[in-house]
Amino acid sequence: MSRLLIPRKTVYRFSLYYRALQRLKTNSIETVSSAALAKAAGVKPTQLRKDLTYLGQFGTRGLGYDVSALATKLNEALGTTRLQPVILVGVGNLGAALLRYGGFAKEGFEILAAFDAEASKKRGAGLPVSVFPMGKLRELVRTKKIKMAILTVPATAAQEVTNELVDAGICGILNFSPVILEVPDGVVVNNVDLAIELENLSYFIQ
Ligand code: ATP
Repeated sequence: MSRLLIPRKTVYRFSLYYRALQRLKTNSIETVSSAALAKAAGVKPTQLRKDLTYLGQFGTRGLGYDVSALATKLNEALGTTRLQPVILVGVGNLGAALLRYGGFAKEGFEILAAFDAEASKKRGAGLPVSVFPMGKLRELVRTKKIKMAILTVPATAAQEVTNELVDAGICGILNFSPVILEVPDGVVVNNVDLAIELENLSYFIQ
């Protein structure tokens, strides 16, 4: 099954099933019914069965799924359909709020790490990911093969940080700073300018 044909939400649930199977394995459980696995993963049995059809034939009617075999199969699938890793640069108020927001995983994205010019001040701020100094950016982007970044630095720093991101190999930037970024061909920028969006709304509610 091509990775592109598996819906993102299914891939996300693959991770849930995989974790649930790992727990069963730890408890030396060898087979599991779809109802029990669905319950352990917090989804409906019909959803589970539908998701697993993307892996091909699985389970023996009456006996349920082989825990080890299904875990291996899911692991293989996740190897090529893993959540898209993303980094975030600029852990100010907006950046920190985005880091704390738990909703990206459901859509198939995972913020792996954050970077800030003043990383030392941002550490221990109750964030779910580590905040690294900018000097570490290139290495992490390369070793983890990260292609996407969320940019939440002030406008004055946005272009300079963008250059660093592009240099490191980032080719998709979600830009929250109110600046039109210059990037080479092959790099995509999507702009989210909250002030412009509000201004636009304000025009239409007159
Ligand atoms: P704060 O209260 O942390 O200042 P803020 O949202 O008002 O929050 P901004 O001035 O918008 O802060 O900056 C956002 C973040 O971007 C800050 O944490 C700042 O340290 C970081 N930052 C600024 N310049 C750079 C840069 N050149 N490279 C990386 N991070 C930067």
